[in-house]
Amino acid sequence: MIDIKKIRTDFPILKVKINGKQLVYLDNAATNQKPQVVIDSIVNYYSTFNSNIHRGVHTLSQLATDAYEEARIKLQHHFNANKSYEIILTSGTTHSINIVATGFTSLLNESDEIIVSALEHHSNIVPWQMLCERTGAILKVIPMNLKGELVMSEYDKLLSNKTKLVFVNHVSNALGTINPIKEIIDKAHSIGAAVLIDGAQACPHIKPDLQALDMDFYVASAHKLCGPTGVGILYGKEVWLNKLPPYQGGGEMIKEVTFEKTTYADLPHKFEAGTPNIAGVIAFGVAIDYLNNLGFDNIASYENELLQYATKKLLQIEGLKIYGSSKNKTAVISFNIGEIHPYDIGAIIDKLGIAVRTGHHCAQPIMDFYKIPGTIRASFSFYNTFEEVDLLYDALLKAKSMLC
Ligand SMILES: *Cc1c(COP(=O)(O)O)cnc(C)c1O
Repeated sequence: MIDIKKIRTDFPILKVKINGKQLVYLDNAATNQKPQVVIDSIVNYYSTFNSNIHRGVHTLSQLATDAYEEARIKLQHHFNANKSYEIILTSGTTHSINIVATGFTSLLNESDEIIVSALEHHSNIVPWQMLCERTGAILKVIPMNLKGELVMSEYDKLLSNKTKLVFVNHVSNALGTINPIKEIIDKAHSIGAAVLIDGAQACPHIKPDLQALDMDFYVASAHKLCGPTGVGILYGKEVWLNKLPPYQGGGEMIKEVTFEKTTYADLPHKFEAGTPNIAGVIAFGVAIDYLNNLGFDNIASYENELLQYATKKLLQIEGLKIYGSSKNKTAVISFNIGEIHPYDIGAIIDKLGIAVRTGHHCAQPIMDFYKIPGTIRASFSFYNTFEEVDLLYDALLKAKSMLC
């Protein structure tokens, strides 16, 4: 069970006033808020054991190294990776995807094919387009239907012995659709293609079991999981991480350097050149503990109640249309009211303290599919309340009366 009163006291920002009103934060799909324990861990690191890792023999450096590596092991257990060195610590989802996309340059041939889905975030489209430009490989797209779901029969048709890679997000950030990734992974594997799943939008709501799902790569960002910005993971199966060349050269990623030849460090250091966000990684571990203490089953069922309540409530507003009506979706509602531009509504309800996202949500192809410039997106977290849904409803009615 979610003890909503207690949880809300864990998040200092929820007491902040915006434009003189109580903050109603409904932009959790962009980044979610941080509990006090996560904030404290960052302050504690810089106040008591700030030091560089993996190099010094001195005590502080060892304390910092231990805390950093403990966080990696927490992440390994949380995501159920086989080995801790299969968890590469990065600056976030975008960085993680670019490590894979750049690494595949030497593994693809002209006329090989890469499949992405119509539901992707730009950060999951552009790196593959750049990879295709470098290699001559061809990008294919799994289409979507009006409900905002992937058309799986079309996916079957796209798969062939030319397919080398499949990239799909676990949950769409623009619509909240939960994609059938197990089916996508198994079908790709049956023809020998590798699969990368973008978990940035799924991880805050679903605890994925990476070994059971059996994908080759999985990526996520700490800042959507109550952790700090600028930290994320790239999970890769050991065989794949050994096949990929390093992404950046620098300190920490080498075994031996001479001007004739450098040999690379073992995993995970091969992909962790330079001084990482040490405080951020440690705080990511604390955020994972915080969420596991709440329990992902509790989080998912509470958020689903919020989603059902908010969907019913908002549909009472005349002219309001929701985009994305899959039965399998997280607590995201993407909508428009009549022909009113989403930005105009967003600006008015901001004056009432309500934070939502407006625009194309880094997923322009989805907006083009629906032939709209963008949507208003309310995305919920486990610390949101039913009263906040009511405040959103009231604010939307007010905005509508001002704009119509
Ligand atoms: C947020 C998001 C990203 C990008 O994450 P960054 O932390 O900005 O690198 C990629 N994919 C999806 C589905 C996202 O929601």
